[in-house]
Amino acid sequence: MKSVRTVCGKISGDSMGYTLAHEHLIVSPELSDKKYDDYRLLDINLMCMEVEKFKQKSGKTIVEMTPLNYGRDPLKYREIAIRENINIICCTGFHKEEFLPELAFKLTETDLINMLLEEINNGMDGTDICPGVIKCGTSYNNITETEVKIIKAAAKVHILTGIPVSTHCDKGTMMLEQGELLVKNGVKPENILLGHTDVQKDLNIQLEALKRGFNILTDHVGRELDNIDEDRIRKIEIMIREGFGGQLFLSGDMGKKDYVTAYGGRPGLDYILGVFKDKFVREIGREYFDKITIDNPKRFFSF
Ligand SMILES: [Zn+2]
Repeated sequence: MKSVRTVCGKISGDSMGYTLAHEHLIVSPELSDKKYDDYRLLDINLMCMEVEKFKQKSGKTIVEMTPLNYGRDPLKYREIAIRENINIICCTGFHKEEFLPELAFKLTETDLINMLLEEINNGMDGTDICPGVIKCGTSYNNITETEVKIIKAAAKVHILTGIPVSTHCDKGTMMLEQGELLVKNGVKPENILLGHTDVQKDLNIQLEALKRGFNILTDHVGRELDNIDEDRIRKIEIMIREGFGGQLFLSGDMGKKDYVTAYGGRPGLDYILGVFKDKFVREIGREYFDKITIDNPKRFFSF
């Protein structure tokens, strides 16, 4: 029997409801450069206020994509989930090379596989909290040797456990190359969710990924307000018309103070189920909004 792995345990896919497929609630890149200060979201009370607004818009599930060395904090995710009564899915695996911990370079592929399996089977970071998705990533227009090693390990772990794979495509580059590398190592395209694909301005690349069976994530929704979301909706409409409605996902990837209303930013975690949903429903219809934010996540995150 398939189930979805949240920070509070297993749930049925039917309990997921409206889902944001790539967000950051408690996050802090472990690099000293000052430019990352804006990316540190460490206040649990502020984040609970933010999540509360998401919940008021009928939001039910958030996929927390902060990996090791980027400030992952499973206990705090569980605390938010309990306080706000929502589902949170968190991740094992790794970010792109820039954000990798030392150990990712040193460990062999087999060591990495064992490490990820340990997290999936027994819990992460000294807790009993298990991940519900595996992350891997690639650099801008490039896949480094270490990223290849991690992708191969992620593929193997997926084959052994069924846990789905959700990726970081830096600024929307290397989507096809990254996806094909996972496929070459035994992962079916339907179990791969390519991330940040809306940053890729060439719609033909997104369509090609869909043709090959990959899921793709429009996850910069609301990042640049005004006309940009009209463009996202127009592209999603084309992708649906081409028959790919079952492979699309939505999120805001709002892992920065600038995007979180509780930290003084915008548009905030309630944007997609509020302003964006209204536009989407007007242009494309409610049926497809629900498919993309409820049905597709339910299928993908159940294993
Ligand atoms: Zn992210």
